[in-house]
Amino acid sequence: MPIATVNPANGETLRTFDALDDQETERRLAAAHRAFRSHRTTDFAERARLLNRAADLLDEDQQDIARTMTTEMGKPVKAARAEAAKCAKAMRWYAANAERLLADEHPDDADVKDSGASRARVHYRPLGVVLAVMPWNFPLWQVMRFAAPALMAGNTGLLKHASNVPQTALYIEDLFTRAGFPAGCFQTLLIGSGAVEAILRDPRVAAATLTGSEPAGRAVASVAGDEVKKTVLELGGSDPYLVLPSADVQKAAETAVTARVQNNGQSCIAAKRFIVHTDVYEEFAERFTTGMRALTVGDPLEESTDVGPLSSEQGRTDLEELVEDALGKGATALCGGGRPEGLDRGWFYEPTVLTGIGPGMRIHREETFGPVATLYRVADLDEAVELANDTPFGLSSNVWTRDQGEMSRCARDLEAGGVFFNGMTASHPALPFGGVKRSGYGRELAGHGIREFCNATTVWYG
Ligand code: NAP
Repeated sequence: MPIATVNPANGETLRTFDALDDQETERRLAAAHRAFRSHRTTDFAERARLLNRAADLLDEDQQDIARTMTTEMGKPVKAARAEAAKCAKAMRWYAANAERLLADEHPDDADVKDSGASRARVHYRPLGVVLAVMPWNFPLWQVMRFAAPALMAGNTGLLKHASNVPQTALYIEDLFTRAGFPAGCFQTLLIGSGAVEAILRDPRVAAATLTGSEPAGRAVASVAGDEVKKTVLELGGSDPYLVLPSADVQKAAETAVTARVQNNGQSCIAAKRFIVHTDVYEEFAERFTTGMRALTVGDPLEESTDVGPLSSEQGRTDLEELVEDALGKGATALCGGGRPEGLDRGWFYEPTVLTGIGPGMRIHREETFGPVATLYRVADLDEAVELANDTPFGLSSNVWTRDQGEMSRCARDLEAGGVFFNGMTASHPALPFGGVKRSGYGRELAGHGIREFCNATTVWYG
């Protein structure tokens, strides 16, 4: 894939970039490794000062970087501004909380004595240079939720961003440099995916984190496994959205629209499969479809746009094939199901609701990365939970109910990294984020995230 900015709203190539050559890659690897030796010894106050400065700069740059993101991958510009603001918030949160999250642990006195020690501690020490392989869909947020904790822990970062967001990738390196982070602490590598393996095998790289598709995750984790290096994988999702009889159906349907089409439908934690109890099915289907139909699809730089184009022509083709497969096998489109009229230049797709989904359809098992919802009718909670779990993925889940018993059951039985009641899944710096099954492993955010790339060192005093 060329490293280039191609505007998905009109297909125009705006800028292309040469991939780094071997010499420049080596120079950057060496700089990352050198920077780690000193960065690991800095104190939390100094790291926090730099990260807070980066957050302030990001706030100042918000309008410009939002336009860059929108131009590179097509998200509505108002959502791009919100993404930048969320990044600044997470940076400040880690600046304020990292020292507490990585404080030494003191085992119980009785256990220390039992181990034969006079005292014992657990120190959280940084691992080293971490390679981050990141996707285009939240081009700033995916990187920051790795970078903020990694830098606060004393690690240094090398970013291999998706090839279609090079300007956002370069902006992130520049942001940390302007904030005062020493040279080498955070660098962007403009490289293709074929160059990842050699970097990951380099002994100066300690670990890797990848957010992206299952094939990319498998490729990176295989190499890391071969090298016995730690990885965190944040992969795809096909999150269920359960609506049960006691739900506030109007609110559930309104939220369902946002949950499905956020980021033009290209979010790993978007609700994708809507599983609705038969008692409230008709009302939900009617309200949800009306809401999806009412969305404004168009130029993502317009403030009034709800849904912009898909990020690439290939992305739209993949989505079209999933929908056509389902329609060809008997599914029905309650709305959408094709390209919107009058938007021929970009890679737009209509907000779509499909019913009559069967297990033989690809869409039943595969992730829909675009504004397409599948709607299922179920007879009871048992069937709802079974259908919710009938997926290779396990990222998050959403349940609408006022019944405490149903909540307990869902919190216990849904196979996912999150269960969100009466709302939609959203990440927050203080809440761990990640999945199970084919959605990956490890966690980002909160204390769990910052400790992923730390060496929990037992220090024992005889
Ligand atoms: P992708 O094609 O897997 O790309 C993600 C990153 O991996 C890009 O930087 C890509 O580089 C790189 N890559 C691809 N193949 C690789 C390989 N064989 N070896 C090394 N690196 C490789 O995914 P995407 O299309 O950008 O993103 C969509 C997917 O990401 C969806 O499945 C979505 O659900 C998932 N996602 C998950 C989360 C989460 O937190 N769980 C968040 C966001 C997105 P190039 O661009 O150069 O190919």
